[in-house]
Amino acid sequence: MKRVRVPGALLLAAGLCVPWPRAAAETGATLSTRDTTVRLAAMADAPRLVSLTGQHSPAWKNQAAETLPPWVEREGRRLALHWRLVPGATIEEPQHVAFVYETYRPRLQLTWEWFVRAPFGPVEHTITIRNRSGVELWLPVFDSLRLDWQVPGAARLRNLYIEKGAGAPTNQGTHLDQVPAGYAWTGWSSTFAHPVPSRPREIIPFEAVFAPAGSAEGWFAGIEFSGRTRIALQRTATELTSDLGLDPQPGPVLTRLIPGGAFTAPRVFLGAFRGGPDGAGNQLRPWVRRVLGSPRTWANPEYPYTVNNSWGIGMSINDATARRMIADASALGFEMFHLDAGWFRGVGDWYPDPEKFPNGLAPIAEDAHRHGMRFGLWVDWSQAGIDTEPGALNVHNPTVRDWLVADVGPNWKPQAFKGQTIDLGVPAARDYAAREVERIVTSDHLNMLEHDGYLVAQGCTRADHPHAPPDPAHMQVEHYDGEDIVLSSNSTDVSYHAVEAYYNIYEHLRRAHPDLLFEICNDGGRMVDFGSAAHGDYFSITDSYDPVSNRRAFYDASHVLPPAMLETYVDMWPTPHPANFLYELRSGMMGWLSVMQDTNGWTPEQHQAARRALSLYKTQLRPLIRDAELYHISVRPDGIHWDGIEYWDSSRRRGVIFAFRGSSTDEPRHRFLLAGLSPGKSYRLHFEDGSSKDATANGQQLMQKGLPVVLPQPLTSELIFLTEN
Ligand SMILES: [Zn+2]
Repeated sequence: MKRVRVPGALLLAAGLCVPWPRAAAETGATLSTRDTTVRLAAMADAPRLVSLTGQHSPAWKNQAAETLPPWVEREGRRLALHWRLVPGATIEEPQHVAFVYETYRPRLQLTWEWFVRAPFGPVEHTITIRNRSGVELWLPVFDSLRLDWQVPGAARLRNLYIEKGAGAPTNQGTHLDQVPAGYAWTGWSSTFAHPVPSRPREIIPFEAVFAPAGSAEGWFAGIEFSGRTRIALQRTATELTSDLGLDPQPGPVLTRLIPGGAFTAPRVFLGAFRGGPDGAGNQLRPWVRRVLGSPRTWANPEYPYTVNNSWGIGMSINDATARRMIADASALGFEMFHLDAGWFRGVGDWYPDPEKFPNGLAPIAEDAHRHGMRFGLWVDWSQAGIDTEPGALNVHNPTVRDWLVADVGPNWKPQAFKGQTIDLGVPAARDYAAREVERIVTSDHLNMLEHDGYLVAQGCTRADHPHAPPDPAHMQVEHYDGEDIVLSSNSTDVSYHAVEAYYNIYEHLRRAHPDLLFEICNDGGRMVDFGSAAHGDYFSITDSYDPVSNRRAFYDASHVLPPAMLETYVDMWPTPHPANFLYELRSGMMGWLSVMQDTNGWTPEQHQAARRALSLYKTQLRPLIRDAELYHISVRPDGIHWDGIEYWDSSRRRGVIFAFRGSSTDEPRHRFLLAGLSPGKSYRLHFEDGSSKDATANGQQLMQKGLPVVLPQPLTSELIFLTEN
């Protein structure tokens, strides 16, 4: 399937590309939510986003028409495309607008669509190209959304973007760049945040640009896809441009269009907001819950669960230790036992190790159920190893070998729980994985399936897969922790196909098991994006588990994703005093709590404190974590100074402040400037640990002078509940 590429410039220079004269709009349409209005126009040769307007804000005017793909390749030759509007195909409905364009030689159809899926928040956009030509074509991948706003030279602007927590949160995590003329920024995301030389830490694919002054109005946009994507933002004296879509590097990125097949650029969302970063978040988080989240998951008032995870014991987990953990965790009030790595025969051989679990995992699941808990399981289900038992995915099996993203040597061995990734974009590999996860879910009686490791490929050495072949002259194969990560001009296309297959597997699994939850882990914090949010229920947001890493990762990701979906693992950490133990627990309790410790090792005092903390979580904190607005009321946690998060639920008129004192020995008091309250209303303050007497204060005081908190010892915490009088 090798293709010979002919430089496009030759054909273009030969006069085959004749631009159409720019025409006036043939038709127009408007789509609105409560917060966002877009005006759209269909010109004869291209569609155009005309403007974006917020509830009360002036319009952002877009200057450029869409650049539709100018060519495709057929048998290595570039064919120039001349797109023409098909007026009769336009769809104009209150929640859906579509303009359709066609080319005739070769015959292609392009649908430029916008959607409204909630009465509030952003609108969404996709572009699909269908191949009606009857022959195989190769399409250069194109951006999902290109913005070209007119901006006055004097306008002050900021760009908010958020890093993934990955192995450990970096020292910044939440970025709030100034955007002067000359500004140029690019953020990248992929299925497995993995350092690429010359590129910074991956981002959650999202940007928010706003004026810092006044009511801090602006716009935000994000990509609902887990594959290799990038967002670029540039400013000149008069223009602010942004490109969102599949990562065009390394290029040239081409994707195969089989006869009758289609390519859909990753769906994006675009919204207008006011109120700066927390204003954007308080609009986006409920929208993610409503539009992307699983309605069935959110209908369960016990979501997010409190979890005890077996990694506290590590790979040495077995039937007896699992039962001991379940018994103690259940008595403490945990709602799910999560069996982490260490339970299986081998990598790719996802059957219980008969020495550790002689009766399999179903009796462990049933033991959890008898104790009133759910049962979750870790699986690295797209990775192959060297086991030879029936059912094992063996790298040397000739069939499996072709699914691997890269060949392995004859003496290759997997790591303890990582092997070589198969490319899910290969239909046979996808079908194997779909059958395998279905078997595991059913035979092991799962309530939750966690996927881990480098699960969804973003690069592949093969030339006979549905994706484009790599460029052998420019291909890197990095051996990373038992897995091979391949980088070549086909990497983006590999990730596109593999992600589509991954989504397909999870959509089927969800239909077959509507109450099954999905944890997206991927080595912790590496696949945190809006496509995963639409296919899973919660994210491991970082692979470091100490209190400061947990709070940092939460501080960052909670700008854009519902806190209920943000899981932090709470690991062992020095806790000489009960207050340090509460500090440790609460650092992982602002969203989804997973305690990764054998609680049998806790002291009687720690048991008592944890029982109380879990009960408080379930009765008082969880409803706020699910439903309340969230405000970042401190600088990002550094572990030295104070930090805090505020939840305020305006419908329940109730909220809570998570207050943390860092390690500094000379800062016993701090004032948190609260947000989201009514200046004229009065609020009762309840200090859960009794660090101050309960009191009453008005909203203006709390928002302008602040809420004083006094904690005499470093590395301690307090929860302050607020109730409107
Ligand atoms: Zn492949």
